[in-house]
Amino acid sequence: MSTPVTLENIRRAPKVLLHDHLDGGLRPQTVIELARECGYRDLPTHDADDLGTWFADAADSGSLVRYLETFGHTVGVLQTRDAIVRVAAEAAEDLAADGVVYAEVKYAPELFTERGLGLDEIVTAVQEGFRLGEKRAAAAGYRIRVGTLLCAMRQNDRGREIAELVVRHRDTGVVGFDIAGPEDGFPPTRMLDAFQYLRDNNVHFTIHAGEAFGPASIWEAVQRCGAERLGHGARIIEDITFAEDGTAELGRLAAYVRDRRIPLELCPASNLQTGIAKTVADHPFGPLAKLGFRVTVNTDNRLMSHCMPSTETATLAETFGYDWTDLERFTVDAMEAAFVDYDQRRQIIDDVIRPAYAKLKAD
Ligand SMILES: [Zn+2]
Repeated sequence: MSTPVTLENIRRAPKVLLHDHLDGGLRPQTVIELARECGYRDLPTHDADDLGTWFADAADSGSLVRYLETFGHTVGVLQTRDAIVRVAAEAAEDLAADGVVYAEVKYAPELFTERGLGLDEIVTAVQEGFRLGEKRAAAAGYRIRVGTLLCAMRQNDRGREIAELVVRHRDTGVVGFDIAGPEDGFPPTRMLDAFQYLRDNNVHFTIHAGEAFGPASIWEAVQRCGAERLGHGARIIEDITFAEDGTAELGRLAAYVRDRRIPLELCPASNLQTGIAKTVADHPFGPLAKLGFRVTVNTDNRLMSHCMPSTETATLAETFGYDWTDLERFTVDAMEAAFVDYDQRRQIIDDVIRPAYAKLKAD
């Protein structure tokens, strides 16, 4: 007998999150309060429930214009030091209450400079917010550690500058680098100098690839830029041929990604909104997990996709029939793929994750 795999029990199980955007995870009520405080006038409504629904609907609409409008609002209220500290603190608290024990939250500092904040000031504010949130979570009985990834926007030309920012703040909680923004038309090789600089400085980085664009983008991220993980990477499925009887033949790139154990930061709810799959049952997560790819469960944008790590995990468990052994595998794989120091990863795996899942399997 083991504990039933229900949403409630999954919420209590330790989880690890590698792909979550700070500006995609605000509480609706916080967006409203921050808008009032800073004089931001463009919100579609000032009722928290309505606003939460508006964000999810706009992201669901299939219109890129409306999808981007949602980030216009969250980024619009994240232009002051206090707002940034508050949002980071609440993110840590919300994730901790959902059972997340380790998270890497990403953001693009260059987006928060509209009212004059400097890049270093922004990073310091985010770090302060996460430390505050970790403390509040601990007071509420949850233990979480949050690392951050600094993103450079693909359409801008600030890759090297953001990479240097990562190196400056690497000892205070910044654990790596990523690039975000439109994939189509802005290949990661545009930022080769940033990636080379990061490698020269022994910094970890992941790259959003294989979301809006297919295997060619994944190939560039891995082979030309040296990405250690893939943000999404879901479209690696396009390099796999499935026969009528279900047997799979991996193309060279898919085989390389699997053989090298390159972690895929999969985000099913977000992918349904951007059209990678119509239903969770059609999402590549199921076949990729079965073929032994190093899959991890992520939220991308909790506000826009109306999800939490627990709900994403529960949906996948229900759809693909995962048991605690499967969920433990995804969690340990995610922790091993984290960019935080090895000794801290081991400590969380050995002292927190393994014992909790052993209990869930035995109870
Ligand atoms: Zn993302």
